[in-house]
This record gives sequence, C-alpha cells and structure tokens, in this order.
Amino acid sequence: MYKFYSVPKNSSDTPKILYADVILPLAVPCMTFAVPDNIREQIAVGQRVIVPIGNRKLYTGIIDRLRTEAPSYSRIKAIVRPIGTNPIVTPEQLNLWHWLSSYYMAPLGMVMRTALPAEFKSSGLSEEETSRNDFTPRSEPALKLHPEIDSEDRLHEVLDTLHRAKAQHRTLIEYLHRANIHSYTDSPAIPRRLFDISATALKSLTDKHILLQTEITCPYVEPRRPDIALPELSPAQLRALNSIRNGFVNKNVILLHGVTGSGKTEIYIHLIAETLDAGHNVLFLLPEIALTDQLVNRMKRYFGETVRVYHSRQTPRQRAEVYDELLHTSGGKLLIGVRSAVLLPPNHLSLIIVDEEHDSSFKQTDSSPKYHGRDTAIYLASLCKAHTLLGSATPCAETYYNAAIGKYGHVVLNERYSGVTLPQVIVSNTLTTAKRGEKFSHFNKILFDRIAETLHRGRQVMLFQNRRGFSPFVTCGTCGWTAMCPDCNVSLTYHKNDSTLRCHYCGFHIPIPEHCPSCSTGSLIPQGFGTEKIEEELHHYFPDARIERLDADSARSTRNYQRIINSFSSGTTDILIGTQIITKGFDFGGVALVGILNADNLLLYPDFRSSERAFQLIVQVGGRAGRRDEQGTVIIQTTQPDHPVIRQAMNGDYEVMIHTLLAERQTFLYPPFCRVISIIFRHRDRTLLQRAADTFAAQARPRFGRMLMGPETPPVDRIRNQFRLQFLLKVDRHQAAVKQELTTLINELHNHPSFRSIEIIPDVDPQ
Ligand code: ADP
Ligand code: ZN
Ligand code: ZN
Repeated sequence: MYKFYSVPKNSSDTPKILYADVILPLAVPCMTFAVPDNIREQIAVGQRVIVPIGNRKLYTGIIDRLRTEAPSYSRIKAIVRPIGTNPIVTPEQLNLWHWLSSYYMAPLGMVMRTALPAEFKSSGLSEEETSRNDFTPRSEPALKLHPEIDSEDRLHEVLDTLHRAKAQHRTLIEYLHRANIHSYTDSPAIPRRLFDISATALKSLTDKHILLQTEITCPYVEPRRPDIALPELSPAQLRALNSIRNGFVNKNVILLHGVTGSGKTEIYIHLIAETLDAGHNVLFLLPEIALTDQLVNRMKRYFGETVRVYHSRQTPRQRAEVYDELLHTSGGKLLIGVRSAVLLPPNHLSLIIVDEEHDSSFKQTDSSPKYHGRDTAIYLASLCKAHTLLGSATPCAETYYNAAIGKYGHVVLNERYSGVTLPQVIVSNTLTTAKRGEKFSHFNKILFDRIAETLHRGRQVMLFQNRRGFSPFVTCGTCGWTAMCPDCNVSLTYHKNDSTLRCHYCGFHIPIPEHCPSCSTGSLIPQGFGTEKIEEELHHYFPDARIERLDADSARSTRNYQRIINSFSSGTTDILIGTQIITKGFDFGGVALVGILNADNLLLYPDFRSSERAFQLIVQVGGRAGRRDEQGTVIIQTTQPDHPVIRQAMNGDYEVMIHTLLAERQTFLYPPFCRVISIIFRHRDRTLLQRAADTFAAQARPRFGRMLMGPETPPVDRIRNQFRLQFLLKVDRHQAAVKQELTTLINELHNHPSFRSIEIIPDVDPQ
C-alpha cells in the first residue's frame, strides 16, 4: 500500500513541497505526485520515476513539469523513486509530445506509449518487478577532452607542455585523430580500450586535466564515414543540390520534386555527407520498413559506421540502445527509420529527409496518437532549428500547395539520371479485349504478349494487383451464398496456399468448407482475383519463368521478405507480382515491363483522396520500369480507359493532375484549403450507436453547421463485432479552438449515462 501525502494547509511554517506532473503510459493526461524531500535533488524534468497507481501497481512515468503550487485536490501520492540519474526525454521531445497530444487530440500518456521504446516504460508491476525491468545500457570506460581545454589555443598550449611525455602526447594526438572535434565543450567520448596507453600515463593525463575518464554506452561504434568518394552528380542533379542548399538559407522546408529515377537519393547523399561532416545528425524517414534494407545498404557504402537504424522489426533491446545512444553521444550519425524514428531524441539534429513524402504509410492509423510522420518531422525540425527536405515524384496535394504558395521551397528535377525517357504507358481496355476474346484469363492480350516478349529478352516484369489472397470472395454455385466474416461486414478472402478463408480486417480464418454451409450441397466458387491467383496463372502460362509474390502474406517474415527482394534485385526472379508494397521507391535495374492488372480497384475508393492516390500509385509502380538503359513500358488494364485519372497517369502529367485536383478541392472545400478531422463512433449495439451519433450531431450541428458531415455509414460498417458510424469535420480556421470544442462535445456525450461506453475516435488529417 502506498501512503498519501497530505497537503499542508499553512505553507508559511512548512518548507514548500515540490510536486511533479508525471506522464504515464495510460490513456490519461498528466497525474500529479509529491516529491519526497530525500529525492528532491535527484529529480528533473524528463526523468523517469516510479509512481504508485491504485493500491499495488507501480508504473514508470516521465516528469513533465515540477512545481510548488499544490494541485486542487488534497490527497496526493508520492513518487516512489527515480530511475537513473539523468532525464531520458529532452525538452524538445517533451515539447513535441505536447504538440502531438493537442494536434492529434490524443492523451499525453498515449503519446508517451508510442514515443518511448518498450524497455523504458514498464507498467502495472510490483516493486521487485520494476527493478528487474529497468533498461540499463551496457557501458564501458571512455576518454574525452577535459572541459578546461576549451579552445584550440588552450589545446596547443597543452600539446606543447607534453613534448617530453611521449606516451601522453601520442595518446592526446590519437584522441584528437579519432574524435573529430566540433565543439570543445562537448568533445566525444572514445572507448578507453582503443588507446594503447599505460595506466600511469593515463593517470598523468587526467591529473593534469587534459583528458577526462567517463563511461560510454555499448555497443560503441565509431561514427566515422568510409573514405569513399560521393557519387558524381549529373548537371541537373547538381543544379538541384545547389538550389536546395540556397533554399535552406530562407526556407525551413523544401520539396524536392523529382521524377522517378531522377536520382533523388544521390542528392540526399551529398546533403547527408555535408551534415555529418559538420558533426550533426541526419534523420532519414521512409514510409515502410520494406524499404529500409535497400536504403541502408546504399547508405552504408558512403556512411559506414555512422548509420543507425530504427524500426519495429528490431528487438526492444536494439531499439532502446539506439534511443540511449542518440541521447548520450555526440553528432555525426545518420539515423534511418520509419515514422516512429521521428520520436527519438533529436540531439544534434540538423537535417530531416522525408523520402516518398506522399506515402500514406507515414500516417499511424491503428492506434493513438494518429500522427503523420512527415508533419511531425516538420514540427520537430522547427523545434530543433533543423531543416526538412521532402522528396517525391508525386508530392501529396498539401505539400505541393505549400510549395506553390512559397511556404516551402520547391526544387524540381524532371529528368531521369540515366537519361532514359520515362516509361511509355499503354492503357488497355479490359471490356473490349474480352469481347474480342483476346484475354488469357486475367491478362489482356497486349499485356500477355509483352510479358512473353520481355521474358524472352531476359528482362524482368513487375505485376501489380492490390488484393492479396487467391480471390476476394467465394460464392456457392447452387444457392448464391457468400462467405462473410462472422465479426466484420466483409467477405472472406480465399487463400489457396493454405486452403483457408480469411478476414483481412480482423484476422478471422477457417479452413475452406468442402460444401456450401448454407445449402450443404453446392460447391464454393472463387470470384475475382488476388495476387495468389495471378501467381498461379503465371506458372501455368510461363512454366519456365521464375516467379515470386510479394504481399503482406509472403512478407510476414523478415527473412522471406528480404529473400524475395534480393532475388528480384539480383535478377534471379523474372516476374515479381505484388500489392502496394512493390510500388514504393525500390530501385531495380532490370525491370522493362510493369503491368497493373486492375486499375478499376484504385478508382473506387469513396474518399476525396482517391484520385490523388490512384495517380500516385500508377505513376509510382510505373516508375519502377526502365530505370537504367532502355525505356520501359507500363500497361494499365482497366474498364474505364477514359477516366480522367487514367488519362493523367498515362501522360504522367502531374501538373495537370494536381491543378485539376486543387481546383476541385477549393470548390468543395477539402485539404489543403481546410483541415479535416474524421470522427469514428464505435459500439457493439447498433441502435445505441445510432442514437449516440444522432445526439452528437444534434449538439454539434448548431456549432459547426455544414462543416460537420455525417453521421455516415463507412464502407465497412462493422469490424470485430463493433458497428461504426463516421463524421467528417472540416476546419478552415482556429483549429485549436475547434479541437477544444470538439473535445468538449465528446466529453459531454460521454457524460450522458447511456453513451458512456461508446468509443469515439478522432483522426486529425485522416489519410
Ligand atoms: P529516385 O529515388 O529519384 O527514384 P534513385 O535515387 O533511386 O532515383 O536513382 C535511380 C538510379 O540511378 C539508381 O540506381 C541510382 O544509383 C542511379 N543514379 C542516380 N544518380 C546517380 C549518380 N549521380 N551517379 C550514379 N548513379 C546514379
Ligand atoms: Zn449453397
Ligand atoms: Zn473479420
């Protein structure tokens, strides 16, 4: 049991009690605790502390604020003890956490949960368990320059005094050689073991206040970049690089708008090298873990030991080590990661690169805070006085708009590095082809012939189909019954590989029944097609081709995923078929043909972003073709060849697409001309849900008027047995005030006894 502190009534005769607002990994704002006198000296903002919650549970929290004025309630618990001696969250991070919490309407505790590696935030433990769970970095003895050596002059004086003490002189020189000093007050620590020096010589150096013994966390890797020349840039790349450098003089954010294969990465490499050489850190954000390997390999060639990686496929220990290292060591590192890397300690950070900035995977969708990695990066950069470079061949509308109005710098690169022209795009009408009988199951004749021809020439083919599994639904040939998920309002996808029916929303799966469960006689017929089916047909038509499939199923294990990428990359695989995952920024040299099997799927999303997304997807997947030595070909199969998006994608005309789109968005008021907040209501009871949504609408409508749309039934209106209704709120000014009002309205609804159990989930800037 943990005791309460009683707040003294009369503070004149008692020493002031110190209170700490503590962030806990729970869906709550800060909680206040008293700081016992005996630990006052050991407590600081950003530090980890153990606090009691309820009767027996202990949680690790982070101190957000220290203050002397008492909270409004009188029974207050005390901090049990601090963990470690130093803060593990920097002031910039805390500032960012508060921004994430208010901008994305998420409790501060949920931000902490997302931001800290698991090893730093044990929760709900007993006293013994907390001590066992602490993350303690392994450390080793190290040497750094004594702070009294605070200038180059002083250093030269000291070196002169050592001219007779050979061993000491050599050690100091060796230190300087390894340390690459940028600031005398914050010189890097280098492991003791790297120096060949006797204990006595070392003692003299430290006694003379020349070197300082310290500790360094392991594994220590010298952030030193290999002595290798950077790639030589083409004249166009060089112009872009210079424009970026000049642009950063008066813009904090720059859009590098370069067509696929224009060599944006090579430009990044030059900027990174400059930044690392100046002793600063670079954060490189990618939309997908899938892309990290290729990029890390490419970057290691130039930056070697300075490269650090951070993503969710690492072990908790590895992630905690990266976090800890960034917190405690000097700059000069290139950190490559996905969205969550933006939450790491931003010490020494001076450049953030967000590659493929248009990619919706930058948005966290499954848990709170539903933050966008790109937008968070821009905010973080502003806190750290760092620069942000956004790269894309198909910038998202918001980014393009910000560049067009001059808020961001805009650097354009519209030729491929290789000089090869962008791929030729052929649109093939699936309906007329079918009528003429020119189809080979799901391949229109032109695509079929081109695959054969490409394979014959020994080149590679990529095929895109945005559905995984064998077929998206199965129906009974006798009674027409369709297999549906028992918990979601979606059909079950047939996976032939393991003979299952699977729900892609909740993971429910069953072996496929032999006969129709409804009429018990009919047989089940697969309808439509997914990647597995395409794979099967390819094996049938091209028995000699080496074929691989890359989708969420085959990429489940990292090893398998890497094998598939490597074998395609090295030319061992002839045809790669896959979902979205293959459309991202991969750089494969041998791809001559890209086929999009059913573009209709892309045009159907009931969303204001659908045409933008469809365009991006088609251009991005097409951009994998013909990247080196000959023009590639992209074939789009569709039943709507005249759809404006198909036409724009066919001409690769980003400018036409974006201006049409911006005009529409302005007319109908959508981003970037306003912000959008989606508000999902969820509950098991459909009637209660409807009542809650109607009540909310009645209360919110007078305030928001036509800016509030809904309640509407989303395309999938039941997931995991919970029904869903959705509102969309447009915000064109005073967004902080609007969010505040929205929060108040949600709280009011929750105060209503019958609606307490309704889940209400706001999503700011939904993707
Ligand atoms: P993007 O990211 O713009 O689509 P990449 O950076 O992947 O394009 O470059 C496309 C290809 O061209 C890559 O294989 C890359 O190595 C090559 N490339 C681009 N610029 C250069 C350069 N300056 N020197 C050598 N190769 C380059
Ligand atoms: Zn049946
Ligand atoms: Zn389901």
